Amino acid sequence: MTKRKNPLFFILFIFLISFFQIDTASSKSIEAQFIGNEAFRITDGNFTLVTDFPYESGVYGYMEYNFNFAGATQNILALITHRHLDHFAPLLFTEQNWKIIGPKEVTQQLEQNKIIKMTKAITYGPINIFPRETTHANTEHYSYLVKWHGKSLFFTGDTEDLEVLKELPVLNALFITPWFYRKAKMNDMLPEAKKIIIYHHQDNDIVPDCKGCIIPLQDEIISIQ
Ligand SMILES: [Zn+2]
Repeated sequence: MTKRKNPLFFILFIFLISFFQIDTASSKSIEAQFIGNEAFRITDGNFTLVTDFPYESGVYGYMEYNFNFAGATQNILALITHRHLDHFAPLLFTEQNWKIIGPKEVTQQLEQNKIIKMTKAITYGPINIFPRETTHANTEHYSYLVKWHGKSLFFTGDTEDLEVLKELPVLNALFITPWFYRKAKMNDMLPEAKKIIIYHHQDNDIVPDCKGCIIPLQDEIISIQ
């Protein structure tokens, strides 16, 4: 046997290592657990994003929920679309040690050190967030494109602005309300998405023309690939 190292073998070795690292970074799985209304707890096991949460349980006749706030203290970012209480409850948020991205109408009343500044492209932890200003009733409202471990997620919020569905990348998951889904489908404006996840629905809701859509039950966990 010779002791001479084969440089080709070495190069191959480095190539395999780097390939493996890239592969694990982009294939790291993300799980989304449905809380209620438009609230999901989304995590990669280390970092957690909550959408339109904490909200006021059962308000306006929408979904009640159970959530273990005591077990959710580390690395949590709340991403809020608008100020309505079925999407955000300021007092409940104040009790948490979480960060927040949301419209000024939501954040102006909160502790400044919890607020991540709203810009066109925000990087926080492992996540890139691209807010898009949209309309909903008389509120300041944002929809969000989120990129996380190579996956693209889009959250419509309560808007019905078809414009916001234009120029999106191919999505790993589209989170959309039943009524906006219907409108987008009728106008042939649905973006390409591996998973369409309906939110802000009723328990046991039936969404017409939504074959293959995921209509989650509360606490259901959806794997985003
Ligand atoms: Zn709502």
